[in-house]
Amino acid sequence: MIAKQAVVQILEEIGVLLELKGDNPFKIRAYHNAARVLEGQPENLKTLLETGKLEALKGIGPGLSEKIHELVQKGRLPYYEKLRKSIPAGVLELLHIPGLGPKRVRVLYDKLKIKSIEALEEACRENRLLKLEGFGEKTEENILHGIRHLKKSAGHFLISFGQAEAEKLLSYLQKQKGVERAEVAGSIRRHREIIKDIDILVTARRPPEIHEAFVKYPPVESVIAHGETKSSIVLRSGIHCDLRTVSEKEFPFALYYFTGSKDHNVALRTIAKRAGYKINEYGLFKGNRLIPCRDEAEIFKKLGFHYIPPELREGEGELEAAKRGELPRLVEEEDIRGVFHVHSTYSDGVSSLEEMVKTAEGLGYEYVGISDHSQSAKYARGLEPARLRKQQKEIEGLRKKYKIRIFWGIESDILPTGKLDYPDSILAEFDFVIGSVHSNFNLPEKEQTARILRAMDSKYLTFVGHPTGRLLLGREGYAVGIPKLIEGAKARDVVIELNANPHRLDLDWRFCPTAKRLGVKISINPDAHSVEGLQDMAYGVGIARKGGLEKDDVVNTLPAETIEKFLNRKR
Ligand SMILES: [Zn+2]
Ligand SMILES: [Zn+2]
Repeated sequence: MIAKQAVVQILEEIGVLLELKGDNPFKIRAYHNAARVLEGQPENLKTLLETGKLEALKGIGPGLSEKIHELVQKGRLPYYEKLRKSIPAGVLELLHIPGLGPKRVRVLYDKLKIKSIEALEEACRENRLLKLEGFGEKTEENILHGIRHLKKSAGHFLISFGQAEAEKLLSYLQKQKGVERAEVAGSIRRHREIIKDIDILVTARRPPEIHEAFVKYPPVESVIAHGETKSSIVLRSGIHCDLRTVSEKEFPFALYYFTGSKDHNVALRTIAKRAGYKINEYGLFKGNRLIPCRDEAEIFKKLGFHYIPPELREGEGELEAAKRGELPRLVEEEDIRGVFHVHSTYSDGVSSLEEMVKTAEGLGYEYVGISDHSQSAKYARGLEPARLRKQQKEIEGLRKKYKIRIFWGIESDILPTGKLDYPDSILAEFDFVIGSVHSNFNLPEKEQTARILRAMDSKYLTFVGHPTGRLLLGREGYAVGIPKLIEGAKARDVVIELNANPHRLDLDWRFCPTAKRLGVKISINPDAHSVEGLQDMAYGVGIARKGGLEKDDVVNTLPAETIEKFLNRKR
């Protein structure tokens, strides 16, 4: 069955396509609304359809519900496909330029007949946009900047997207006759935050049949190579996929080899060579003799290493650590006992407070920390004191109704002065406070760092939220000295957030070892704005593992009784 998220995406896209065509604004809004409403439902699509709850949702009228049913039943929606075809592909590509929405793209297409990024770039250079109403020199500058950014990030994808695409492709391949083993290797297996392609390894009785099926995978845009051991395709989403079929005996070696990273492989090969071994994707050899290995662990063992989890294979000293038996015992998803940094409809979330609490409980968490935006965050309906009270009361009620422990917190803006967004008398009432920078991104590094350090001086600050503010493939973070922040956190006993939203994954894993070394605690937080957002924890745990963090380094592995004491330790 088609996933709810896919339906949400198509509804969103229909809204955008209608806007490009200059359709009725009410109709356009209806699609965007429907997408938001659907996304915010805690139930899955199947339940919504079968119980008739879909029709009862505010914002989903008969026409829309009919389209959703059709999409779910047939797996496609001709209305959407027709709409998509009616707009040149190059025009749709313009939407990928940061800061360029459908309204402006439509003007560019209508008035200047711009149908491609190249044509737009040329038009900007010739100042042809200046003639258009609402476009100025600054707009042209921003568009050129956006195009440069887009070109740089082209062919790159978020781990969340890569993983989802890889899982779909993998399950399609697993359904083919004669497939024995199938696994994803490469950067996805290593859990990089940004990935470029999907590598899949398969063992099968008749490999050519699998390659045949691979190039016929329905979402294929083009076939680059179609062989008997290796094939390559590009999907409609632009992501490149390689399939390799290997023999059962070769599988562990191939899996190891194609997982990489290159730096890691080169380092291991050098060490192996010194010990008189040769290792490649076909096997481990002493002289010409193959040394059979059942799995990767055995390969490592034969070469005198402890097993190195894929996340750590980046060629950054993990081999030396594995030799000495000093690898960290990486944190696992099951270790996580609760979640902080959860938004609700009180600010810019799309699911209600109760839905978030109920879902967190359903996921098996022992505690959930609600933190909506603070009063200065006007863009996100930040909470002024009166609405804070309302939320506080609702939380008191929910505490009686649910078993999960509910902590009441806030994501407080760190004001440009470094102050938090409420007086101490209010801050003291929260169970925890996340301090985040959401404004004045352009301060010089020294000032930005000092601003956050000042916020850390408050004894009420529990966590520093998304420490760089970056949006992967979207926006660079503000300039800030992360090592200084980590030292500051050490001195002031503040926890640093590892924001698990796949667009952020901030703290960057490359800084996790520094935090660990200094004993600065990390909290893996979903920054969930919908019930689905709670699922992002998996990405955060992946990044924490990549950064070598262990259970004890992560505060939200503490059970509910201890975490409460921990939150109150400075008060
Ligand atoms: Zn934030
Ligand atoms: Zn947030």
